[in-house]
Amino acid sequence: MGSVSLSKRHSVSDIRRENLRQIMMLLARHKTLTRHEICVQTGLTGAGLSRNIRELVDAGLVADSPEESSQNQMGRRRSILSLNANGAFVIGMTLTANRKQLCVMNCARDIINQRDFDGLDVNDPARALEHFIREAKTMIAETGIEHGRVLGAGVVLGTSSAGPVGERVSMPVLGWQKIPVLSILRDGLAMPVSLISRSDALLRVEEEQALAGHRAGNRNQSRILLVNVGVGIGSAVSGGDSFPGGLHQPQISHLAIGGRSAACSCGRSGCLEQVASGAGVVRAISQLPDDRLMPFNHLSGDLSNALNLAREGDRSARGALFNAGMCMAQGLDLAAAMLSPDRILIAGEVGRQPDYFQGIISGSEQLASPLKQVEIERCTTRSMYAAGLFGLSSFLFSRDLSLDSLQLLSREAS
Ligand SMILES: [Zn+2]
Repeated sequence: MGSVSLSKRHSVSDIRRENLRQIMMLLARHKTLTRHEICVQTGLTGAGLSRNIRELVDAGLVADSPEESSQNQMGRRRSILSLNANGAFVIGMTLTANRKQLCVMNCARDIINQRDFDGLDVNDPARALEHFIREAKTMIAETGIEHGRVLGAGVVLGTSSAGPVGERVSMPVLGWQKIPVLSILRDGLAMPVSLISRSDALLRVEEEQALAGHRAGNRNQSRILLVNVGVGIGSAVSGGDSFPGGLHQPQISHLAIGGRSAACSCGRSGCLEQVASGAGVVRAISQLPDDRLMPFNHLSGDLSNALNLAREGDRSARGALFNAGMCMAQGLDLAAAMLSPDRILIAGEVGRQPDYFQGIISGSEQLASPLKQVEIERCTTRSMYAAGLFGLSSFLFSRDLSLDSLQLLSREAS
């Protein structure tokens, strides 16, 4: 009997947490709402909503302000609810081959403080992570936020393995092998931490925007394939959560395209990772023999040189980027046959480069395949923004949100 009542209580608290999460999500999306509007959208009763709102107001997360000229015929005052931007914060962190950044994001999704240290030496993982921890603490201090209102850190990593990022992280582009990133950051920052790959993080933002557009009637809900092209290649497909547990999301980086013999670390040759990536661009410019492996963790300097040359109009750099884009078109053709996406989004410093993107478009036009029907666009979402949003979804718009400590902070402040 005991276990029955325990599980019943458990499910009641789950429902309560889900209600709180939905109210917060609605307020994030609409900025301001009346009680009536929230009841309509959530199906909560007025009394049920009032109880939830009181808890959120007590925690300092929601502001309840009387509407201007608010006396209606019944003489009752109407109030307007909104998120309190200063009620909670998260740390966003990006750690990839070309981006090392930190931000503080408030719960209204504004980045209120940001630090960039793209040139940080990451050869020693422990020292690099220590740097992030120190900088994050300094940022929190200079922003003047109570530590308790920083709910956690969302960390975007340049790992190409899709799906959930495990406790130990390998990032070949940084030369990192099985580094306990999660525990180092969690202990150092003294807050919960959640890890995600860059392509997954960007995809989540794009999915949410597509969903918002769908609600507004702008666009049909569609399956997105997002490909991030930096030094290496990462990819993510929407609807990926439906892949059976334990099975990794399909990764396109090691699709091998015909007629190419550049050696790959996976044992094949002609993989996209070798010919359509930033590494492929450097390989082409430096004319590295096909049987040699690229030192992925030492390429970000060469790649930024190539991108700078292309920006200045250097023909061979621009040509290398265009050709790599053409190779990517062939890879996307293979990927489209397997995953049948409605939209393909190309992200990353190489992916967004104009010659590379033009190579993809030209390449896909030349292919007599269904790829021609697929919308291919550049993804404009920034990694730092995606990291902050991932932090908010992990720790604020989450059933795991604990209001008790926030309510305590509010009580102490008043
Ligand atoms: Zn490979």
